[in-house]
Amino acid sequence: MIFTGISRSIVSCQSCQYNSVTFKPFTCISVTCESSLKKSLAKHFEVTQFDSENKYKCEKCYKKTKAKHYVQLCYLPDVVIFHIKRFDLSGKKIRRDLDYPNFIDMSTYSDP
Ligand SMILES: [Zn+2]
Repeated sequence: MIFTGISRSIVSCQSCQYNSVTFKPFTCISVTCESSLKKSLAKHFEVTQFDSENKYKCEKCYKKTKAKHYVQLCYLPDVVIFHIKRFDLSGKKIRRDLDYPNFIDMSTYSDP
């Protein structure tokens, strides 16, 4: 597919190790405005935790538990749009410069 990729969202239960996996098509990757596109992508794909204040209810063991959440790209399109979120939560424009390379190795974020 030229414009459509497929992402895989994984929530991993820390109690029974079950992985809840959701696949989603995408044409655009929305990232926060960091100092470079590489840093924005690293933040977008970093592992986040459901911890003691924000526990996850596992669909396999039914426990409210700690969990890890991360996103991988399992199918890369030929063309992708990077959407830089240039407004903060209050609606104020973020005027920071953002460096971007001419070449990005997206295999870092993908697991076919
Ligand atoms: Zn579980």
